[in-house]
Amino acid sequence: MKPSERMKIERQDMPEQEAAARATNFCEVNQGYSAPSACTEAERCLQCKDAKCIRGCPVGVNIPAFVEAVTNEDLDSAAEILLGDNVLPGVTGRVCPQETQCEELCVRDKKGSAVGVGHLERFVADWAREHRKDLFEPPPQSGNKVAVVGSGPAGLTCAGELCKRGHAVTVFEALHTAGGVLMYGIPEFRLPNVVVEAEIETLKNRGVEIITDVVIGQTYTIPELMDEEGFDAVFIANGAGLPVFQGIPGEHLKGVYSANEFLTRVNLMGAYQFGETDTPVIPAHEIAVVGGGNTAMDSVRTAKRLGANPATLVYRRSREEMPARVEEVKHAEEEGVVFKMLNNPIEILGDDDGWVRAVKCIKMELGEPDDSGRRRPVPIEGSEFEIPCKVFIEAIGTKANPLLTQTTPGLKVNKWGYIEIDENNMTSIRGVFAGGDIVRGAATVILAMGDGKDTAVSMHDFLMNGKATGAKASAGEAVQSA
Ligand code: FAD
Repeated sequence: MKPSERMKIERQDMPEQEAAARATNFCEVNQGYSAPSACTEAERCLQCKDAKCIRGCPVGVNIPAFVEAVTNEDLDSAAEILLGDNVLPGVTGRVCPQETQCEELCVRDKKGSAVGVGHLERFVADWAREHRKDLFEPPPQSGNKVAVVGSGPAGLTCAGELCKRGHAVTVFEALHTAGGVLMYGIPEFRLPNVVVEAEIETLKNRGVEIITDVVIGQTYTIPELMDEEGFDAVFIANGAGLPVFQGIPGEHLKGVYSANEFLTRVNLMGAYQFGETDTPVIPAHEIAVVGGGNTAMDSVRTAKRLGANPATLVYRRSREEMPARVEEVKHAEEEGVVFKMLNNPIEILGDDDGWVRAVKCIKMELGEPDDSGRRRPVPIEGSEFEIPCKVFIEAIGTKANPLLTQTTPGLKVNKWGYIEIDENNMTSIRGVFAGGDIVRGAATVILAMGDGKDTAVSMHDFLMNGKATGAKASAGEAVQSA
């Protein structure tokens, strides 16, 4: 097909569950392309010689090559290419902020709308999961043992890449289930757990060992892993999952949750099916959530599905400054979430029995830009008002958990508690590497995966040659962090 013909094809919409119906269930919102839609969308790709989209992908997926294979209806080759570069394509096809990564650099974005790379990635990954047997051939074993701390996207990617290079990898996970935020944070209606489980199963079949219920820093320390358990190198990818609270009066009241606790109860422990499962969440008609990122959006949309009416989102800046993915904001609005922009909670109010009854907010206006480049929200004096609610969820961010770093002598961290690394992703301890949120602070799935992939290259050099050369696996640089 000539480029001029490709240019005439319009972007294919992602079929979605209808908003009113989906606001009452936990089934996936996006339904995935049909084969004809995927093929049509793939034909929109101009197959640029200098494919800028690849530079926008932190794991360096060869986007034009897998998209061309979809055009040719050769899904086996498309899967081979995609899975060769990305061990979690069913995940990234669903949750990556493509609009600020690969798709932002697509030449078609400048002239209308970018090729739907994420939608195509999801299509190929789902097809592969259902139709394709993984043909991974185990390489000759190097004899090296590597420990990975944490089974989120950074840890899993690093484990998969090291396994490809012949090293024996054991992932230690604190929770009873592997997957990190993918399993306990991101809800079923955006990322079904079966998708994550299947991609983890592929890694296990390739030889990655995952041991759950092991807290590094408590069950074993990092020095114990290296000196007593015989690991030759360690990759720390324990994320940044410690909730941050606003520090306002009333946070002790019954009915106040951190977003992490609320989402873990619902997603990981199945509270949305309480009765069949053992873990409840407090049933409430009126729920308010504070925050403007993906976590806030996931919390308020989850609250809506649990029956909250209204489910209210309070955010101190305006909609333009929200760090959440554009699609999540749009979906939340369609589902009937009430947006209270330019408002900030200043106190949680309780009743005589110690339960939340309302949150007191103050109206804000935008002043000069702050360090983040976004305009600083400034309170408007005398504008306080109350939002009635029985549950109040704080989704304003997370930080590093000091448990591991404090039990690892000699491990350098910065002033926020995030681990410091050199250009090879090695920490201040020889043979101990780190990546993902524990280095960057809360960021994105694909940036964590890029770190895992890059670090595997450095660790391989270290294991084979006794030094890390800093070779980078990914073709791309991060365009954005959330
Ligand atoms: P994590 O995913 O946090 O995994 C770390 C793992 O280490 C966890 O399983 C944890 O239990 C384990 N662990 C912690 N301490 C220890 C220990 N001491 N010993 C053993 N194991 C330990 N990003 C996107 O790109 N798109 C999105 O749509 C998106 N939505 C999000 C929604 C929510 C609710 C949240 C919280 C985050 C979201 N993010 C999103 C951000 C993204 O999920 C994270 O940036 C990413 O998961 C970080 O990966 P990681 O591997 O570094 O850490």
